[in-house]
Amino acid sequence: MKKHDNLIAGQWVSHGNYQENRNPSDISDVIGLYSYGDAAAVDDAVAAAREALPAWAAATPQARHDVLEKTGRTLAERAEEIGRLLSREEGKTLAEGIGETMRAAQVFKFFAGEALRQAGELTPSVRPEIDVEITREPVGVVGLITPWNFPIAIPAWKTAPALAYGNCVVLKPADLTPGCAHVIAEILQESGCPDGVFNLVMGRGSTVGEAIVTHPGVDAVSFTGSAATGQHIAETCGRLRKKVQLEMGGKNPMVVLDDADLPTAVSGCLNGTFFSTGQRCTASSRLIVTEGIHDAFVEELAKQMLALKVGDALDPATQIGPVVDGKQLQSNLDYVELARQEAHEVIGGERLSLGKQGFYQAPALFLGTSNDMRINREEIFGPCGSIIKASGYEEALAVANDTEFGLSAGICTTSLKAARDFRRRAEAGMVMVNLPTAGVDYHVPFGGRKASSFGPREQGRYAAEFYTTVKTSYVFAG
Ligand code: NDP
Repeated sequence: MKKHDNLIAGQWVSHGNYQENRNPSDISDVIGLYSYGDAAAVDDAVAAAREALPAWAAATPQARHDVLEKTGRTLAERAEEIGRLLSREEGKTLAEGIGETMRAAQVFKFFAGEALRQAGELTPSVRPEIDVEITREPVGVVGLITPWNFPIAIPAWKTAPALAYGNCVVLKPADLTPGCAHVIAEILQESGCPDGVFNLVMGRGSTVGEAIVTHPGVDAVSFTGSAATGQHIAETCGRLRKKVQLEMGGKNPMVVLDDADLPTAVSGCLNGTFFSTGQRCTASSRLIVTEGIHDAFVEELAKQMLALKVGDALDPATQIGPVVDGKQLQSNLDYVELARQEAHEVIGGERLSLGKQGFYQAPALFLGTSNDMRINREEIFGPCGSIIKASGYEEALAVANDTEFGLSAGICTTSLKAARDFRRRAEAGMVMVNLPTAGVDYHVPFGGRKASSFGPREQGRYAAEFYTTVKTSYVFAG
């Protein structure tokens, strides 16, 4: 069984403590052994990053571009093989695994370009004979803590801007999915990333994650994961005065109005709610449907949901892969049980065996629910959607906004007036019109409001807000 080590100062370092990475489609399939580090490993990684920082911060835009561009190119060339690894360790379908790897490639290529496009501002002072120059500098050493649900895209969309803007990185991937992060580390190293600029320490959040967040040598922390862990990290970073960026959960609404095109609404909700096994922070979990279209919409969505093929992630016929692990599956099943008490009716949601040792669950639709139920307040993070009936647009909008989260919000309508109004009044960082709430571009900002996000946006040019710090210089030329 192949052993995988941590990358520190350009060296592959074993910290012992090899953990098995198992395939959720069939847990008898062991993907590899991964060495889990500890606080001492984080000390070494941060020391390496600090040592590498002055040279990388001063490196030419061309040097940074070349590393990122080659990394992106290699990811694209190896997308099939890496996508297969991703599907094996996370459980999303092979098409989704390859698609996500291509997304990571595009992210690296985008930020290769951004490395060349950095610019400042030159402006006259309000005082005579003085020029004012505004420039951006790297933040320093950044700690990146990533979840299991996008095991290559999220490490990519944090690492690429960090490196493009001259920072050094210590990455801790999710305990459940170290494989894809290890591949990124290998490719960055092969692509000429200088020693210590990018460091990988695998391990548990409670040890490695905590050590990164509290380390005095880490200047900023970017985190994606649960709201509870995010809150804890924000409090620690606030106390230590570290820059922090959090992307957390969602309870994303999809409003379907009477005038919606039914096939568009059904396919958008099918995709947004169930694809990637519902394990997306942007998944549509509250389907808010107005009275006139309600019955036809529910009938068609239930029919198409029941026809979805759940199976092994690597089977080309599979549309919904397994849940990521037994703990998440049990949590989903508990929510289905809760829905049996709260909702008028539950369709699907049962555990499936499929003759394999995998964590399979049938997608679930909860009918006749109201927005105050726990199933509509808490993030489930599984293939489950609730139907909430609304009398009309204003009520649907109010229900959509009545949540502690604010990541993505969607509307299906043929009314330009309703779509325009929703775009303006939806309390979410991202709004989708006649599109699933999940599925975003890589060159524009990603993030939300309220309990979903904290700090500057990720992705696109807006990533510079987090990964750089602004300097204002005054020059007297008299
Ligand atoms: P966590 O928030 O616990 O994990 C996210 C990352 O943070 C992981 O790398 C984790 O490490 C790490 N971490 C955990 N505790 C700490 C800590 N004290 N300090 C620093 N880092 C830490 O989420 P889970 O993976 O446990 O998933 C639980 C729930 O979170 C899901 O059911 C879902 O609702 C939500 N979630 C939301 C995501 C999103 O995209 N918004 C993504 C993933 C989960 P480790 O690998 O050891 O757990």
